[in-house]
Amino acid sequence: MTIADLEHFRNLLLEREQNILHWVEESTTTTPGDLNKARELLGQIREALTRVDDHSFGCCKVCCDPVETHRLEVQPLLDVCVGCLSKEEQTQLETDLVLANRVYRALLPQRQLVIDGFDIQAMSAEARYIGGDYYDLLPNCPESNLQRLVVADTMGKGLPAGLLMSNIQGAFRLLAESHASPAKLVGSLNRWLCRNIPVTKFVSLVCLGIENAKEASSRIVYANAGHCSPLLIRTGGEMELLAPTGAIIGVRDDFEYLEVETSMQSGDLLILYTDGIVEAMNQDRDEFGEKRLMDFIQPRRAHDLKTLLPDLITHVKAFALTPQLADDYIVMALRKR
Ligand SMILES: [Zn+2]
Repeated sequence: MTIADLEHFRNLLLEREQNILHWVEESTTTTPGDLNKARELLGQIREALTRVDDHSFGCCKVCCDPVETHRLEVQPLLDVCVGCLSKEEQTQLETDLVLANRVYRALLPQRQLVIDGFDIQAMSAEARYIGGDYYDLLPNCPESNLQRLVVADTMGKGLPAGLLMSNIQGAFRLLAESHASPAKLVGSLNRWLCRNIPVTKFVSLVCLGIENAKEASSRIVYANAGHCSPLLIRTGGEMELLAPTGAIIGVRDDFEYLEVETSMQSGDLLILYTDGIVEAMNQDRDEFGEKRLMDFIQPRRAHDLKTLLPDLITHVKAFALTPQLADDYIVMALRKR
């Protein structure tokens, strides 16, 4: 573990200690049993802090291998690696992860996304029990008729990424009601994230607004915060990439996001996706990449979306020679009717 990692965990532990001390002082309804448990916990925190001081923090006390960082992020008092857990503890961990997966899946839209005038399909899978990718149709802003979609990706995988994403999902839904413009919404989310969450992982996302969805030509506005460029394919086969209009979010609160405008006519197809698709790797460590994505989608641009997306996933898996992709992924297709 690096000095910076140790400092990070020292701060987590100190914050926990402060919170418990505060709770013990303030609470008027604490039972003697609870107080004893709190004292026991404070003792464990102090013991963990001494391990930070002598740099043995993060080493498994049984086998001396590193304790998994993603577990320490959630519970910095852990001192045993997964491999050294007892059978019962391993079973408990499995159960917790299955539960975490249910919570995560509940955050993704439960129903088919509906925008009148468009056909929409989405597919997603997480590499571990819980994913860091997210997509949603946001609640409308009262003074605007823009319908907004978001696809986001947290750096990293597993529980910490999933927990950060569930925070972002909540913030997005709240902020969406007061900012119509995708660029303003993304800027505001970035400020919220930088100021409120001690983030060590960053988030890339695309927020897309659709206006006049039912008319012959729909206006599309978008802000792309360091995310994979969505692919827009016209009925004639011409392709455009909706490139980033700003940096990933969570780094600095003064980053600005530009808004870019385009339009979609009947038959035009838009593919939004996360890096689990384009960064899928074959045995030669070649990535699937934008070019292969374009080559696959372009001749199939008129296919039914219900078969196009599963076909794409099968194609990416065949490229990577794997029954399961290594990273979380989301892929979403929108076609104007
Ligand atoms: Zn161990």
